[in-house]
Amino acid sequence: MSLFFEEEISCPKCKHKQKMKIWQSLNVTDNTTLRERLFNAEINVFKCESCGSGAFLAVPLLYNDVERKFCVQFYPYDSLKQKTFCDRFTIEGKFKIEKLPEKIAKSGNYLLEPHIVFDLDEMLRYIQFREKLYNELTKRNGK
Ligand SMILES: [Zn+2]
Repeated sequence: MSLFFEEEISCPKCKHKQKMKIWQSLNVTDNTTLRERLFNAEINVFKCESCGSGAFLAVPLLYNDVERKFCVQFYPYDSLKQKTFCDRFTIEGKFKIEKLPEKIAKSGNYLLEPHIVFDLDEMLRYIQFREKLYNELTKRNGK
């Protein structure tokens, strides 16, 4: 499942206000175009309709590839300064959820062990690494 909400954002340059979709999670198996849009810098990127300037919105974003069973969670680096930031993790860096809801559990426990990044470029590199790994290894096992 992919999640987003809509918010009115003011352009940092000209203060023009416009609504935009802010994505919180991308399920790229349900919707493959989301992967493309992420790599084209179209996800959580503000593009001003008035002055044309653009800005990346540093908001948490979960990338979920159900087919290859991996997920990457991006947090803005400043999240580390939040007092409660660590409350959501175990000491091993997993999400602190006792039991996954049944619906989600079907897709696997990998959802509890996201690869966490604080840089969006690193998110894109990690996604490419896992896709390559999956493609190479399933090819080899298929022989
Ligand atoms: Zn503007």
